[in-house]
Amino acid sequence: MTTMSAEVPTFKLVLVGDGCTGKTTFVKRHRTGEFERRYHATLGVEVRTLPFYTTRGQVNFNVWDTAGQEKFGGLRDGYYIGANAAIIFFDVTSRITYKNVPNWHRDLVRVCENIPMVLVGNKVDCKDRQVKAKSITFHRRKNIQYYEISAKTNYNFEKPFKYLARRLSNDPNLEFTEEPAVKPPDADVTLDREYIAEQERQLEQAVALPVPADDDDDF
Ligand code: GDP
Ligand code: MG
Repeated sequence: MTTMSAEVPTFKLVLVGDGCTGKTTFVKRHRTGEFERRYHATLGVEVRTLPFYTTRGQVNFNVWDTAGQEKFGGLRDGYYIGANAAIIFFDVTSRITYKNVPNWHRDLVRVCENIPMVLVGNKVDCKDRQVKAKSITFHRRKNIQYYEISAKTNYNFEKPFKYLARRLSNDPNLEFTEEPAVKPPDADVTLDREYIAEQERQLEQAVALPVPADDDDDF
């Protein structure tokens, strides 16, 4: 079966979030996306088809990534229309990118309403982390799944895809039957295992704290 086979369930997945949060780095980790990509000149969008092999068969994500327009404000409706799923990015080394998460979420639900989505805090390999786990509360108020990732080192690369595949197939037990085809981690970044374990502990502790009220969206 080829990755473009018509019978393969295929979902439009949009990446949103401030510029420089690592959206393009993240989607480029997947090898297949390199040769199955298309550029939509009118929208200024690059779409990569990423196949995943699961206990329910192959699932394709057509991942939409901007050519950088998000740096100049919001994205056009055409970017969001027809999306089946979304990943909202921020950069844990940049507070402003987390502050802007509610804006991206608002833009998204204005067009897409109730699609499965994931919030990701990227660059957790960086030691100069600015957004601490306990201050990341947006997802809890909105009931959105949250993962910490490091696009450059592949840390938790598969997590958002697995979560979304489970939601979209209505199968909470779906598993990948093959590891996603990712490129080797970037040589210029190393993942300090101890440091990551500490981040994971802090995230676990944050979950034990009470969920803040919904009325402080504006921070
Ligand atoms: P985009 O504007 O959201 O598409 O962000 P890019 O993918 O272009 O990444 C912006 C910058 O962040 C680039 O210099 C990347 O190399 C860097 N970057 C992306 N992901 C990571 C990561 O996980 N760790 C580190 N340390 N840097 C990253
Ligand atoms: Mg980009």
